[in-house]
This record gives sequence, structure tokens and C-alpha cells, in this order.
Amino acid sequence: MAAVSVDSLLERDGPACAWCGRAPWRRDLTLEHLVPRARGGHLVAENVVLACRGCNRRRGARPVDAYVRELLRDGVAVDVDGLRTALRRLLASDRRVHRDAGRRLLERLASVDAPVRP
Ligand SMILES: [Zn+2]
Repeated sequence: MAAVSVDSLLERDGPACAWCGRAPWRRDLTLEHLVPRARGGHLVAENVVLACRGCNRRRGARPVDAYVRELLRDGVAVDVDGLRTALRRLLASDRRVHRDAGRRLLERLASVDAPVRP
């Protein structure tokens, strides 16, 4: 399996932060674990997306849906469908902790509507 890096994720996902949609300088993009390491997540391609430093820090180890709801409350136009796409990759992981978390997080995000971008 190819090593996970900011460059490999830039190629897969493009330059935007998975949370707030901003496209910062490359040096300000970080590897963000969908299932945090503190919750058993691993550094493998299906468990990481790119995030800006601000979002990475602010989200901490909270579940995906908790941070999405906070951003939406703050009026940030989160790409919820993009996050669903990322979470679906967890369903195909060979690690059970990822598959289980992916299922749970997709269920919790099911009731979250993506905002209409202006
Ligand atoms: Zn961000």
C-alpha cells in the first residue's frame, strides 16, 4: 500500500480543507484522521483527509458529526457530501475499527443537511 502523505491526498482530494473548504497554502494542510488515533484510528489512506491547521486543532478528537454540526452552527458551508464520500471509504477498510466507525458516523450524518452554497 502506498504511503499516506499530503501529496497523495492532494492528488486524491484536491487542495481544500475537508471541513471548512478553504484551500490554504500547502504547508498549512495537515493529515486529518477521520477516526482519531485516540479512538483507535490508523494512518491509512481511507482514514485520512486534508484539513487546514485551524480545523485540525479545533476539531481535536471529536467525532466527525460533532465538528460538522459546530461548523454549520457557525455558518461555515461544510461540504457534507464530500465528507460522506470520505466516510464511505472507511466501510471498505480492512480494519474493523474503521468500518464500524464509518457506519456509525454515516448514520449520524444522515440527518445533517448540506448548506446551500451562495
Ligand atoms: Zn478548515
